[in-house]
Amino acid sequence: MRLPLEPIRGMRDLIPPESDGLEYVGNAFADVASRYGYELIILPTIELFDLFAIKSGPEIKRSMYVFTDKGGRQVCLRPEFTAGVARAYLRLMRDRPKPVKLFYVGPAFRYEEPQAGRYREFFQAGVEFLGDPSIYADVELLLLIRDYYRSVGLSDYKIKMSTMAVYRSLFREWGMPEETQDLIIHYIDKKQLDDALKLVRQYNPSGIPLIEELLDVNSPEPDEIRSRVSGLELNPESVKEIGRLLRILELARNLNVGDPYVDLGFARGLAYYTGFIFEVVVPDAGFSIGGGGRYDRLVSVYGGEDLPATGFALGLDRLLLVLSGKGWNPPKRHARSALIALAEDYVLIDDVASKLRGLGLSVDVRVTSRKKLDDVLSDIAGRGYEYAVFLGGREVKEGAVTVKNLVRRTQKTLSLERLGLEDLP
Ligand code: AMP
Repeated sequence: MRLPLEPIRGMRDLIPPESDGLEYVGNAFADVASRYGYELIILPTIELFDLFAIKSGPEIKRSMYVFTDKGGRQVCLRPEFTAGVARAYLRLMRDRPKPVKLFYVGPAFRYEEPQAGRYREFFQAGVEFLGDPSIYADVELLLLIRDYYRSVGLSDYKIKMSTMAVYRSLFREWGMPEETQDLIIHYIDKKQLDDALKLVRQYNPSGIPLIEELLDVNSPEPDEIRSRVSGLELNPESVKEIGRLLRILELARNLNVGDPYVDLGFARGLAYYTGFIFEVVVPDAGFSIGGGGRYDRLVSVYGGEDLPATGFALGLDRLLLVLSGKGWNPPKRHARSALIALAEDYVLIDDVASKLRGLGLSVDVRVTSRKKLDDVLSDIAGRGYEYAVFLGGREVKEGAVTVKNLVRRTQKTLSLERLGLEDLP
């Protein structure tokens, strides 16, 4: 039988430079998140379908990898991490003092139509900030994003922000059930405004102009937004929520977080958002590279207490696409060297290789004969190694190695007794 070599549609085999790049941006995220006091959470890849079915929203529900396992459970590959974090929080961390701050890095799965920057298995890095209702928690998310992108060299991104609380408070006032609210928000997310307004009409036809006005608000200027909404007939809660959003916008501007702007016509497909939401967009990229927001009721939906919470997920594959479009390459982990040994003395070879690795070099051992030496050398040069280290008959006798710097084309014979980085040619 001949097996097809292509991975399943939407799946990818990743090799360098993509695999290196992905590992680099994942580690850089872990580094920044832990500097902000977030702790690593590692969650199962497979969860019960119900966990996501409750509050993920129609978009994600449609695109989930769902199947029945051998025990007859309806399970799915996680399409995102927040629901899993909420579940694990309830099981393991409920009694901890608040806030609880967690970060994750790993693959998520969505059965979507593959295209540039859209895969069926993709990598996300994100945080969840649980137990803090204050504006600081939302702002900290933006600060973390600022420092993370700065650390990987991404500067031209925009933060698009809105709030679900304005719409939800109006919809609640108009007697709309939560599922209908979720559906309208889904339509707004998909830019199907006619469908959204049709549903609004069923509950409050006179509210349509107000919703249309709100959806049209789009500006980076707090004062302009203030004057646009000041004439609208908002309820006190929506006025408060817009004030809160403008405060976040002002802080984001002062704290140099991307290029922030408010777009009240933007919504996020995940149905659990209750307040502030945002997306990270890159000019000309045609997709968002991250998104998040406040989800104050998700934990209670799963049977827990009312727990204020906010968080985000960044798409690492898309970040890499953007970075590599700018000519970025992941920094090399180690200078690369080949240890070329002419004697099959594996104990000695291991001793020398270990010493070199101890200096921080990556060491590729080549045991060869004098006759094949030229082939080995040209192979090594072709791979772009920085050093060739020779261990031939003379070196073995002298207890030394000959190190050739392939970039500078210099060479030195060094005693194995005192092999230091500073001695390398
Ligand atoms: P979401 O919660 O859907 O906004 O996803 C958060 C981030 O994950 C997005 O901003 C993307 O960067 C990334 N993402 C979502 N779906 C995919 C996908 N199918 N392929 C690659 N990246 C994705």
